[in-house]
Amino acid sequence: MPSSLRKPSILCSLGAALVIGCIYLWLQRSSGPADDPSVPDPDPRLADLGKAPDWSALKQYDGVLSKDEFESALKDIYLLGPNRHFNINEEGVKVASTISQSVPRVDFAQGKNRSPPPRYWRPASELPPAPEGQPLNGVRIAIDPGHIGGEWARMEERWYQIDETRPVTEGDMTLLTAKLLAPGLESLGATVTLVRSSRNPVTELRPGDLQNYAGRLLSGAPEEKIVSLSERMFYRTAEIRARASLVNNTIRPDIVLCLHFNAEDWGPQPDKPRFSPRNHFHIILHGAYLDSEIAHEDERFELMHKIFQGTHEEEAALAGVLASSFLEATGLPAYLYSIGRPTKRVGPALWARNLLANRLYQCPVLFFEPYVMNNQEVYERIQSGDYEGKREVAGSIKKSIYREYRDAILTGLKTYYESRRASE
Ligand SMILES: [Zn+2]
Repeated sequence: MPSSLRKPSILCSLGAALVIGCIYLWLQRSSGPADDPSVPDPDPRLADLGKAPDWSALKQYDGVLSKDEFESALKDIYLLGPNRHFNINEEGVKVASTISQSVPRVDFAQGKNRSPPPRYWRPASELPPAPEGQPLNGVRIAIDPGHIGGEWARMEERWYQIDETRPVTEGDMTLLTAKLLAPGLESLGATVTLVRSSRNPVTELRPGDLQNYAGRLLSGAPEEKIVSLSERMFYRTAEIRARASLVNNTIRPDIVLCLHFNAEDWGPQPDKPRFSPRNHFHIILHGAYLDSEIAHEDERFELMHKIFQGTHEEEAALAGVLASSFLEATGLPAYLYSIGRPTKRVGPALWARNLLANRLYQCPVLFFEPYVMNNQEVYERIQSGDYEGKREVAGSIKKSIYREYRDAILTGLKTYYESRRASE
């Protein structure tokens, strides 16, 4: 073949290869799970599955807080490190953003005047007087039973089972507690909604829908790492985001009770869990952002809602009363985080941490962490199941662990609202 004819044929083959390559990539993109409109593109400036904020929403907070009030909240409760992302001057605060060019300044209150903070929840002090014997009358309470349980419990790593005994499954235990708690709160007058009322996820996404997202975050990682991240993104991130949407858009409660059971590290084998001699209690409040967390623009946006709505004041007041009630009802010692953990201590058994749930739910959140599930006594109590009255379990007479949990919350909330509301 003459050399003059060879060149164009090479170019033709290259061109064809390019066209085929482009079609292949286009097909890959258009058929991939990332096309699910509820899964955003990964962006290192946002938290996992986070979306770019609508900064204009912050203008509603003009005139709500003074400069001093804003700065104290930022420093005392919310930031573990120095402030690098909030540009503060005498007039107001502007959040730093590289995603958006137009972030409005939120104006500080000047002098003694304050605008009331726009918020869907009401602190106890803003509730009307309660009828006799109904201290929770009209209080809207969402109960969020932690985790999913059921067939998802093993994937969530909230499951262990010794031989043929009753499996210890946090997501099922929190749901059982929630179902005991709801009628107790209603009998005190509260309007109660369960954020999850079955052993199914609230999110419609499944791990397979998140594999593309996980794969883009872990580009080049082995398949099993990507699968494992997509599972975590499903049961931890997508699930909590779906619950937050329900809480903020539909339930709009005055408080959320996040029910959990704690655990110490039980090792890699859930059929041979390591037991811990420790058993303890604490409540997690919102706060204590790590530098790596406040580096995300959506987290800064969510923090602005918390600060301007004054969520911490109501949350801390509630949690203080609930902690006393738990410590007394359970006899558990207050948990102490080890030095160096990203927390701030707010009071006895009260610790601030930036969790996805207590950040996204735009109201006071009480995140309960009583009982160590892999402690021998707690294990025996879980094996005894739920029962009325008292029984001898693990060497002493006790209520069922679920009813003890329920009663501690009922006593605490009753005490809190009785002391903060006038009666009719
Ligand atoms: Zn938990």
